[in-house]
Amino acid sequence: MPTHKLLLLPGDGIGPEVMAEVKKLIAWMNAHGMGTFETEEGLVGGSCYDAHKVSITDATMAKAHAADAVLFGAVGGPKWDSVPYEVRPEAGLLRLRKDLALYANLRPAVTYPALADASALKRELVEGLDIIILRELTGGVYFGEPKTITDLGNGQKRAVDTQVYDTYEIERIGRVAFELARKRKNKVTSMEKRNVMKTGVLWHEVMTQLHQREFKDVTLEHQLADSGGMQLVKNPKQFDVVVTDNLFGDMLSDIAAMLTGSLGMLPSASLGAPDGKTGKRKALYEPVHGSAPDIAGKGIANPIAMIASFAMCLRYSFNLVKEADDLEKAIANVLDKGIRTGDIMADGARQVGTVEMGDTILAEFKTLSA
Ligand code: NAD
Repeated sequence: MPTHKLLLLPGDGIGPEVMAEVKKLIAWMNAHGMGTFETEEGLVGGSCYDAHKVSITDATMAKAHAADAVLFGAVGGPKWDSVPYEVRPEAGLLRLRKDLALYANLRPAVTYPALADASALKRELVEGLDIIILRELTGGVYFGEPKTITDLGNGQKRAVDTQVYDTYEIERIGRVAFELARKRKNKVTSMEKRNVMKTGVLWHEVMTQLHQREFKDVTLEHQLADSGGMQLVKNPKQFDVVVTDNLFGDMLSDIAAMLTGSLGMLPSASLGAPDGKTGKRKALYEPVHGSAPDIAGKGIANPIAMIASFAMCLRYSFNLVKEADDLEKAIANVLDKGIRTGDIMADGARQVGTVEMGDTILAEFKTLSA
């Protein structure tokens, strides 16, 4: 059985609390021959700043490079609001994304049947929803140069951001989209603004050519990103994989997140290029939520987003598909039984804390794995 090298970076606030629930799953899987996971742990964010005056050390970065996957909790909190900008807690996460060249950000929006009423939309629109927003993460307007504010000298200033994409950047994110779709409902919707942006024209052209050349078996649709946003709330179930650039992806993935109800439920993955020899991609898995300082230390954080991030890791980094399916099913079953943390509490349900939610999911996972 291959050894899977995992680097655990719990971070700050509720990060260590939710990561503890994943550690239990890993220990159980190791003990029952469901994988050989070798784990190392490191500091990141504010906790790393307290110990080393940086938000991630070079030694931890070396471990991240050597690992098959990184599991990340959350960073930040008011305690570090006034630390220098370059060493603020979030800088550790940005360095991981940049140095590991994680250009593909996957955010699934899955509505668990038991939580369909927690969505801002009507139950029938979101029940059974299972889509992925795939966002290009290392290019586009957030990084393009020039990026300036110039004083025009007449009481006016001019701000410039530059939206820039090269063919290879669009092609590689497109390839991730089509490959993902092949393992799902075989449909990709590409979103851009080719009616007003040159990057949109190139995006559309490259996606179309890539589809013709390599992925004709997958259905490809194009939508303008603004009407795509409208369609996401009007009829979200029409989608399977939505692929889009960094800026539109930032917004569309937050819209999709709200379809599912709660921040404590949302996992994500960021993937890099496949290694030339092994075909393995560098990968980082993390919940979408932050360090939730308001509830940190109280034992009430919802660990589901972190556990679902681990399920994505099993699926995408280790190809442990049955285990990933079982873990996701275990989460759905526990919710069906009316067991809830405070953030997703509903009438008639039983409220539990972080540890009990983790234990209950583990027990359900054991049953499904038997
Ligand atoms: P947040 O996601 O930490 O919290 C927003 C709200 O959701 C809070 O009320 C919180 O209690 C609740 N919440 C979040 N996760 C939850 C969970 N698992 N269970 C139950 N409730 C949950 O966002 P914020 O308050 O805007 O930011 C707090 C800190 O986290 C800031 O320092 C911010 O910079 C940082 N942050 C970090 C990341 C990251 O590490 N990737 C992402 C977002 C924010």
